[in-house]
Amino acid sequence: MSTKNLLLRHSARRPGATCLGVALLCALSLLRAAPERRKSEPPQKPSAPPLTHPTSLTPSPVPRAQAEKHRQRIGALKQSRPEAFPAAPERMAPSPEIEARMEAERQEGLALPIILRGNPNRREIALTFDDGPHPLFTPRLLDLLRALRVKATFFLVGKKVDNAPYLVARILQEGHDVGNHTYDHVNLTRIPPDMVETEIRLGNDAILRACGMLPVFFRPPGGQYDIETVRAAQKLRMTTVFWTDDPADYLSPGENIIETRLLTHVRNGAVILVHDGIEQTFRILPDLVARLRRAGYRFVTLSEMAQHLEATPFARR
Ligand SMILES: [Zn+2]
Repeated sequence: MSTKNLLLRHSARRPGATCLGVALLCALSLLRAAPERRKSEPPQKPSAPPLTHPTSLTPSPVPRAQAEKHRQRIGALKQSRPEAFPAAPERMAPSPEIEARMEAERQEGLALPIILRGNPNRREIALTFDDGPHPLFTPRLLDLLRALRVKATFFLVGKKVDNAPYLVARILQEGHDVGNHTYDHVNLTRIPPDMVETEIRLGNDAILRACGMLPVFFRPPGGQYDIETVRAAQKLRMTTVFWTDDPADYLSPGENIIETRLLTHVRNGAVILVHDGIEQTFRILPDLVARLRRAGYRFVTLSEMAQHLEATPFARR
């Protein structure tokens, strides 16, 4: 069992030890990353904010009264703006569009803490599953990933975490990462700006309650974001994560189509976006993993991928 897993388990059992556990984890991450930095010098510009933040582990739950007020406002918005609450899984923003937008923001000198892709010099893939956990589906998915010996990353919806908190602990204990996918699975660009940070914090609070850990990665539902969205996550010491490969599995286009789309485009440092709860994705995983391994790829968590991003702070295709 890895040191990371031990720390996560320790923290899950003893929430009071969270800060210490994560601080140690961050320190270990930095130590592990140091040789890579030396190897990859000189670093490419521009530099980005650090990808791990010890202070992100300081729990700061949303006060009860504020959470209640937020819940009421969300309830009202569901009536007045139902389009802001995409059914899960939702149609995702095209990754080339996000990439072009990020490039424009970079040209403007905005050093936003965003990951699109891992290190292009490493034959690694991060498999990411959005929209869980699901009481019936997620355990099957975890069983399959364990059988395949694949570590992945789960972007969790806070209200679903509250319905099945035990699954978060299992996800972590089996060596996967968890990230925040908001509490209400809401399009953050379609709600009042003053609600965005609370929505992310409530997602963090749900994960903290479930496992004693705060996530450092955040993915906005539908990939819908604006500068304020990313800044709100940054304020919470979180890195916003998009993807390089989206086979649109949410449409259930057919197993062959999903697999072909992925095999055709995947490359070093790929961040694959699929959804927890899609049967067609579940069925292609054994063959997809086998084929990609034969092509020399390793499956890593986002934490592991991020350790090797110092030389490529802005992940580019
Ligand atoms: Zn989603």
